[in-house]
Amino acid sequence: MPDGTPTGQGRPLRTARALRQAGLIVPEAEAGAAAVAARYAISVTRHVAGLIDAADPADPIARQYIPDPAELVTAPGEIEDPTADQPFTPVKGVVHRYPDRALLKPLLACPVYCRFCFRREVVGPDGGVLSEAELEAALAWFEGTPAVREAVLTGGDPFMLSARRLRAILARLGAVPHIETLRVHTRVPVADPGRVDAALVEALRGAGKPVFVAVHANHAREFAGPALDALARLADAGVVLLGQSVLLRGVNDSGGALEDLVRAMLRARVRPYYLHALDPAPGVARFSVPDAEGVALVEGLRGKVPGFAVPVFVRESPGGGGKKPVRA
Ligand code: SF4
Repeated sequence: MPDGTPTGQGRPLRTARALRQAGLIVPEAEAGAAAVAARYAISVTRHVAGLIDAADPADPIARQYIPDPAELVTAPGEIEDPTADQPFTPVKGVVHRYPDRALLKPLLACPVYCRFCFRREVVGPDGGVLSEAELEAALAWFEGTPAVREAVLTGGDPFMLSARRLRAILARLGAVPHIETLRVHTRVPVADPGRVDAALVEALRGAGKPVFVAVHANHAREFAGPALDALARLADAGVVLLGQSVLLRGVNDSGGALEDLVRAMLRARVRPYYLHALDPAPGVARFSVPDAEGVALVEGLRGKVPGFAVPVFVRESPGGGGKKPVRA
């Protein structure tokens, strides 16, 4: 089975044709994948391609990233912007949903484009970078909002910024007296681990405030080879690593897969934090797991793994009400 050990070099695979040429889809699937690509961004890094077992039609890594024509069918209840960012956006690039913290989305590009993404209508390689003036307005909003004690960088993926730009943003936010902690949400360490280089680590260290990095990963096999090295570089630099995952049919919807995932996180010094119920973005129904099943899966972890390694199973409330624990 592939383990991602060779560092994936080269440009990401961004078209149906590239996926077919890499052997990740069969020729008969190319037209369907191209139809999906006309609506939603595709990107599979060479590192992730190296993790995929193309001979396995149910490969849990491929399922997260390889487009499927089912994405073009919107099921009842699926909506754009399911987390309702827009009503909570005081200035472009900022989401202020909770009194004490706010999101900054400096760009909407990602190393990979997940087929279940809740922001799938807006993320992509071409859009969403805040202009200098927009970024300045967003940073000024943080400086002028004393209730905010945590700045959370998300997107898109903030680790797609150049280290110089990331450093400048973090240093500016870190210098705000009322901001006590900084958090960065990212898929880069497991999707494009070579980006976690000395300059990026220095950008985090230069923030002047505690930095938490929430690593998005959904399967134990994402913690392999260069990804482990990238996470070790972050942990060794004093960055606190948190794990966040999405409960996904066919990826991690069994007791064994979830236990393997949290154990892989622990070995990489990543503390399991949230397991998200799937947000109902358009075309993601094939990943849906009923809440009762999710609750049972998480409860099944108790007694098998350390208590602090049991993630909290949460769902975003419709209309932007924020995260709430899912109960039986
Ligand atoms: S990395 Fe995050 S924001 Fe980007 S496509 Fe995946 S889930 Fe969406």
